[in-house]
Amino acid sequence: MSTFSCNEDLCSGCGTCVFVCPKHLLTLEDRHPVMSEENADKCTECGQCVAFCPEGAAEQEISEGKTLGPSLAYDIKNKAIIDGALKSRRSYRTFAKRPVSPALIEEILEVANWAPSGRNARFLRWIVLPTPAKIREFNQTALNWLVNEASEDSAFIKHYNPQSMIELLKNGKDPFFCGAPAAIFLVGDKNQRWGEIDCAIAATYFNLAAEA
Ligand code: SF4
Ligand code: SF4
Repeated sequence: MSTFSCNEDLCSGCGTCVFVCPKHLLTLEDRHPVMSEENADKCTECGQCVAFCPEGAAEQEISEGKTLGPSLAYDIKNKAIIDGALKSRRSYRTFAKRPVSPALIEEILEVANWAPSGRNARFLRWIVLPTPAKIREFNQTALNWLVNEASEDSAFIKHYNPQSMIELLKNGKDPFFCGAPAAIFLVGDKNQRWGEIDCAIAATYFNLAAEA
């Protein structure tokens, strides 16, 4: 269940949040938007109502005690900065050893969690490996799993032939994360048709937010 609220001191009563909600869960009462308790169960946590509010008045409490908003739709003063940020992103293969603080990762996740999704819903989960020690732990688990799979002659092994990966991991190399000081997995819901695409969009959001 999620909870919509609006700051009545900021709210102009424009009704934009009511208009953009794809589920029609909000109504204007006394010039301010409200969501009934019954409708709170139907909310998909898409965040449209918050994202479109022109006054930064709307707020949405979503799963796991997290909050979306308030946010002010931004005014792009310098188009070149946005264009440059979009054109200069690539897949990374080399990383600085500098540690990344968990607080910074949290801050970036707060932004990336706003990524739109194919079904206007929030099915994604983020799993963070915040330190090199956690990445080594993950690699050891992956190595054990791969060795076990290889001995089973599984369909996975036949398809991916991970022997070179196993050798690299045995030699203490980091073939998955290329020496990154922290890593993040995005997990989609396999029952959702757009899961993989949603993950890719959210990863791009994360990447751009991290750059900022
Ligand atoms: S989060 Fe989405 S579904 Fe929920 S009230 Fe806002 S616009 Fe409607
Ligand atoms: S969009 Fe924002 S300002 Fe407009 S009615 Fe909704 S909460 Fe109020």
